[in-house]
Amino acid sequence: MSRYDVVLQGGEVLDPASGRWGRFDVAFAGDTIAAIEEDVEPQAPELAVRVDGCLVVPGLVDFHVHAFETVGESVSPDEMCLGRGTTTVADAGTAGANLFGAFRRLTGSSRTRVLAWLNLSTIGQVDIRVGELLAMPHADVDAAIATARAHPDLIVGLKARLSSYVVGGTCKPVLRLLREAADATGLPIMVHIGDTGEPLPEVLAYLRPGDVVTHILTGRKFGILGGDGKIIPEVFEARKRGIVFDASRGRNHEAFPVLQAAVEQGLLPDTISTDITRYTARNPAFGLPLMATHLLSFGVPLEEVVARITINPARVMRRPNLGRLEPGGIGDATVLRLEEGKFALHDVDERVRWTDRRLIAVGVVRAGAYMPLTPVDNS
Ligand SMILES: [Zn+2]
Repeated sequence: MSRYDVVLQGGEVLDPASGRWGRFDVAFAGDTIAAIEEDVEPQAPELAVRVDGCLVVPGLVDFHVHAFETVGESVSPDEMCLGRGTTTVADAGTAGANLFGAFRRLTGSSRTRVLAWLNLSTIGQVDIRVGELLAMPHADVDAAIATARAHPDLIVGLKARLSSYVVGGTCKPVLRLLREAADATGLPIMVHIGDTGEPLPEVLAYLRPGDVVTHILTGRKFGILGGDGKIIPEVFEARKRGIVFDASRGRNHEAFPVLQAAVEQGLLPDTISTDITRYTARNPAFGLPLMATHLLSFGVPLEEVVARITINPARVMRRPNLGRLEPGGIGDATVLRLEEGKFALHDVDERVRWTDRRLIAVGVVRAGAYMPLTPVDNS
């Protein structure tokens, strides 16, 4: 008999990457998925975890978080991400070139898998009261290139926040430098929009296939909607070219009318992320399952929602082995429960929306161990 460290028994496996969806047991050995079969018996009964009535999905992937604990507004990834059902995160620009060595040391001991988008600014987001790209010496292309080349195992791309309070009245000089660093390294870029100096089409002109626009549900100035409430045509053209549109919430960037327009007008976000920081983390329900619940409440099918928090962000980061469940693959999994009831959802502008089902995380598997999570009320 094979040796398993843990076997999830009786759950409903849902893996959008492979299309597998049905009742299976899943066995883990170390960091690997050892088996996905109708009946898997562990060599000892205490290694079995019953997950009847639950969904077993790939370990959730949140590619926009702030997880450089103790720096800026970051949270502990183990406490606030893994502890809420997410097994892989990418810090989105808390660290720039100057602090990347420290980021590596600090996150290296996390139980959560921690990757990073490197901030074009050498100082990163250590203190966001002053924009990290207001002083142009901080936009150091050579330093970004050298750092990205030195840490290819961790750095998945380059990031810049383009809002006027970060870069000043125009974001074009920063975009030009970001483009230069991305072209030199071959890495994708992630740009933070909302309150930019220029309308979104002028930003999109700098992006190439695989690049990411984050905060697309922002209700701030120069988001995806035109004055007529319609998604601007350049956004659809950019999607056709392969630009990735990410619904990251953070503190300021999810307006339900924009989400509704995105769903109704055919611009479902490609990925969902939290942009979790100390502030948003105060809500114990804040995490990917809650963001997924928001999409579900607009009628987006469950398998489409799960793809957006697993394989889709993994592919954007060019880590396609993450975010999927298959024998021989990476042994990360999240156990979710789809509950029925009456639940209130909130956008960042205090709008309330009622829904009749929600996703909550009840457990995760990482490195051959099952960790039960305490579900919280997510209203
Ligand atoms: Zn962020």
